[in-house]
Amino acid sequence: MNDTLLTVADHRRDQAGLNYVYPVLSRRARGVSIGVNLNLNRACNWACVYCQVENLRRGAPDAIDLKMLESELDGFLDEALRGDYLARHVAEAEYRRLADIAFSGEGEPTSAAEFSDAVARVAAVLERHHLKGRLPLRLITNGSLIHKASVRQGLATLAAAGGEIWFKVDRGDAAGMLAVNKTSSTPEQVARHLRLAAKLAPTWVQTCWFARNGIAPDSAAENSYLELLLQVADVIQGVHLYGLARPSHQPEAWELGRLGVEALADWGQRMTQKTGVRVMLSP
Ligand code: SF4
Repeated sequence: MNDTLLTVADHRRDQAGLNYVYPVLSRRARGVSIGVNLNLNRACNWACVYCQVENLRRGAPDAIDLKMLESELDGFLDEALRGDYLARHVAEAEYRRLADIAFSGEGEPTSAAEFSDAVARVAAVLERHHLKGRLPLRLITNGSLIHKASVRQGLATLAAAGGEIWFKVDRGDAAGMLAVNKTSSTPEQVARHLRLAAKLAPTWVQTCWFARNGIAPDSAAENSYLELLLQVADVIQGVHLYGLARPSHQPEAWELGRLGVEALADWGQRMTQKTGVRVMLSP
């Protein structure tokens, strides 16, 4: 591995010189988040307008080399836990800790044919390093493939390893989903998939809220989102509400604008008032 310093502003996925495993410094988690990227070809079944992946394309990942994935994670954890990786790559002493492991890459992780096996490999490495239940394990997903039995098998394995699901829901109506995520999902489908996910593992909704062409989401967009949230309020852990964190690399990037912290906080409060769901804000 090279000697590049990790910074909160730079989330490039090639800094450790590995293929599937990429450490990033997370201000929110106050430490090093270990990403597992199953989509090396930058292919996703969605095309969210705010997506940070450069040269994103539609599709599914190439075959995963599970042996390589496992050995990269194993080696990285060795370096981080027993070597001097954190001292060499993290400037601020208070950030020299591992924050989590997240399946979160350059495309939808559950679209990998080997998704379930990949989760099992990661779980085995966690066990080997005595990190099960100590280092949070997360799946960041758009939730669109949860109807597939093989994906649900992966979620069950994730849950057995103490993991949780962060399920992307950016808008609550079909037109909004098409405009933001370029998917033909429907609110009914999303609610159904959220319920399936929550049955298998602790599930958070993850929502990105932003202005487009200078206009914030209107009350109709808020109401449809709240309606969807109400349908799953009894099964989810809460909502992670995000603003635009890093620049989009999609053609629509120039249309997107950040909302003020107060506007996002007010929206989060309205969500809690109307649905009873707790909201964690990351403006
Ligand atoms: S689901 Fe994730 S990887 Fe896929 S386009 Fe959206 S933000 Fe990008």
